[in-house]
Amino acid sequence: MQPGNPACLATQSPFMLRQALDEGMAMKSYQIKQWGGPLEHVDLPTPTPKGREVLLRITAAGICHSDLHIQDGFFDLGQGERIDFAKLGAQLPLTLGHEIAGVVEAVGPDAHGVNKGDAYIAFPWIGCRHCAICEHEREQWCNTPKFLGARVNGGYSDHVIVPDPVYLVPHEGIPADLACTYACAGLTAYSAIEKAKDLRDNDVLLLVGAGGVGLSGLHLAKEMTRAQILVADVDPAKRQLAEAAGAFAVIDNSQDDALSQVMDISNGGVRAAIDFVGAEASSRFGLASLRKGGTLIVVGLYGGALPVALPLLPGRSLTIQGSYVGTLDQMKALVSLGQTGKIPPIPLDPRPLDDAPRSLQDLRDGKVSGRVVLLP
Ligand SMILES: [Zn+2]
Ligand SMILES: [Zn+2]
Repeated sequence: MQPGNPACLATQSPFMLRQALDEGMAMKSYQIKQWGGPLEHVDLPTPTPKGREVLLRITAAGICHSDLHIQDGFFDLGQGERIDFAKLGAQLPLTLGHEIAGVVEAVGPDAHGVNKGDAYIAFPWIGCRHCAICEHEREQWCNTPKFLGARVNGGYSDHVIVPDPVYLVPHEGIPADLACTYACAGLTAYSAIEKAKDLRDNDVLLLVGAGGVGLSGLHLAKEMTRAQILVADVDPAKRQLAEAAGAFAVIDNSQDDALSQVMDISNGGVRAAIDFVGAEASSRFGLASLRKGGTLIVVGLYGGALPVALPLLPGRSLTIQGSYVGTLDQMKALVSLGQTGKIPPIPLDPRPLDDAPRSLQDLRDGKVSGRVVLLP
């Protein structure tokens, strides 16, 4: 049983739930009860924060593509292999949603520095807070994490418990529906672009995939690097968006001559490629686009496997690097950048909380263009 997991409270004490419902203190959440199962509406007692915990009343919660993998209960590793969430320590039932903005409704007796009514983004990539990785402030890499919406209850709800005020980042000047997307879509893009921030004026940075995160990456890359940004996407509408957002050039990477176009545009290969899709075809394209000494940064979690010709790694001095969400400090830096007004908002699709099941299905069916944000 996880501390602060109200589902456990509800299953242990139906009487308390009845009492909470009678007193109007119930919270509405959307949970999965089995891996691969549907998102279900549940009413649970609104949790009371203990210790350093903070109870947020949620104002906006984004629906991320990763939520589909969590609902399925596994990531596809390609070649018939997969990694199961249950083996990673995730427990059911689980309220999904890791992009959360909210206002403080109650604080535990030891939670200082936050006041009722203050508005925050919750940093969701919370570790165990005891291991060496967490102590070095790389909690997103913790081996026993407590990620909101992926290990413990998250944002498809009207309330959420955040375990400590240190994970709350104020978002003054940025509306809640946009601010919540900084916790994953924005942070993932920021952290990936930061890995390419040393590129110089004549360098070309290739972004593969111009969906929500890729487009954020383009906006951020224009602010954070001096490189020329080349965007590849198989979808003409997304290429058009990338062009309008200031890409130096756009190409259709499903075309046979796509690689020779990259070589022409980049004068012999790009210094870095960021794969925002994370499928075999997109990563293979990114790797083949590199010049000697180049780096492929894989961000997307679509799934699959990439065969790599090993002599190319030393022979061409290539680097293959992964980038997974980001740190609390990076999220704070991203919010500061957002507050300057220089980062255009990603397209949003706000919907009521009760649309969570339909919205997740729409995302699965490819019927969503902007980021769906649930507004309780
Ligand atoms: Zn996400
Ligand atoms: Zn840890």
